[in-house]
Amino acid sequence: MAKPVIAIVGRPNVGKSTIFNRIVGERISIVEDIPGVTRDRIYSSAEWLTHDFNIIDTGGIDLGDEPFLEQIRQQAEIAIDEADVIIFLVNGREGVTAADEEVAKILYRSNKPVVLAVNKIDNPEMRTMIYDFYTLGFGEPFPISGSHGLGLGDLLDEAAKHFPAAKGDEYDKDTIKFSLIGRPNVGKSSLVNAILGEDRVIVSDIAGTTRDAIDSQVTYEGQKYVIIDTAGMRKKGKVYETTEKYSVLRALRAIERSDVVLVVINAEEGIIEQDKHIAGYAEEAGRAVIIVVNKWDAIEKDEKTMKEFEKKIRAHFQFLSYAPIVFLSAITKKRIHTLMPMIDLASENHSMRVQTNILNEVIMDAIAMNPTPTDKGKRLKIYYATQVSVKPPTFVVFVNEPELMHFSYERFLENRIRDAFDFTGTPIKIFSRQRK
Ligand code: GDP
Ligand code: GDP
Repeated sequence: MAKPVIAIVGRPNVGKSTIFNRIVGERISIVEDIPGVTRDRIYSSAEWLTHDFNIIDTGGIDLGDEPFLEQIRQQAEIAIDEADVIIFLVNGREGVTAADEEVAKILYRSNKPVVLAVNKIDNPEMRTMIYDFYTLGFGEPFPISGSHGLGLGDLLDEAAKHFPAAKGDEYDKDTIKFSLIGRPNVGKSSLVNAILGEDRVIVSDIAGTTRDAIDSQVTYEGQKYVIIDTAGMRKKGKVYETTEKYSVLRALRAIERSDVVLVVINAEEGIIEQDKHIAGYAEEAGRAVIIVVNKWDAIEKDEKTMKEFEKKIRAHFQFLSYAPIVFLSAITKKRIHTLMPMIDLASENHSMRVQTNILNEVIMDAIAMNPTPTDKGKRLKIYYATQVSVKPPTFVVFVNEPELMHFSYERFLENRIRDAFDFTGTPIKIFSRQRK
């Protein structure tokens, strides 16, 4: 189910990234006394009391050389496009500025709910400073302090009032949802078109079923799929859509809604760092992953080329050792038919449950083969293991002391589990818990 999305907008230096970090709960982006400082993370899931949502710091979307006002305008547009609720942030210490009014004008024109927050109200005496901001026309301003963490509860409660009514999952649970992510020009759109044009693929509906995505529903050999559109693949046009941070944002949102993520690589260009970043998001989100090497038609090859390319991919994507690799061409459609069966397999494994007794046999055999680690004379004891969830398969291992579970031993257990069960295409997670 898609979570509601809050976007923070406002001119530079009002405290957007400070608030974002507060709400997300970790110091994940750099806050410095430099306006427009670059930030790594601009999108995250967050929890606040009973509210579960995603949040975007639009100030972190770097729009390159655009003039100042144009940048904040575009950031506001992004907020309108992406969010269910907008937090419009201003600086209580500076009063209303022309740039604030500019942002306000854009937000009026949208019909998205806007909650006005006046930041840097670090103590109760300063609360009177909020009254100026009524003139912006968004009703009662909420006094907050990002540095001191004040007022955020009330602000988020207000924002949550505007969350869309929780809808069930958009598609029935047997439908496999997948998305294609990758750098611009690797051939994502061409690949979607190739899939839609496949002989045995029945396109049942292409409709704007959700706010931000044009999902394509298709059936192939009796199985239903939804292709989740990334980065407005069929909707290119807006200026900011070419910016990298924005396409990453769109990719993250598509990943979140997917069961299986196809990481598309351009065979002609090989693998670059950005490909790894993108793939890393899919891994982090616990989605099943398939690596798709597109434009396979465009390279000269002999019988060794594929093996060599595969080796390179494995070296670059060590964290995706479980992901199958498919070589194909969206343009000539060569090997396109290998893709759907692979998606089925990855999806099936992503929601596979294993039997507890067999799992424990595997774990006990593993321990017999490679004794558990010790630390300061104490040995890790494993009592039993159980699978607690799927998508991705998640295991809890009950032990005497979780701190004794070394990363490398956990890796070893994962490998034993993978040898015993076929988890091709899906990450698996293992947690150690103290037996009570
Ligand atoms: P952004 O450009 O809107 O993302 O603003 P930042 O989060 O980078 O904050 C700009 C500056 O304001 C930084 O120096 C912050 O430490 C400071 N700041 C943020 N929130 C508060 C606050 O609640 N009170 C005070 N006094 N300073 C704040
Ligand atoms: P996207 O930005 O990832 O959606 O990439 P597009 O689908 O727009 O494709 C970018 C360019 O690569 C276009 O010129 C396509 O014609 C070309 N292209 C896509 N797939 C293939 C392929 O399999 N082989 C070759 N040779 N070119 C391709």
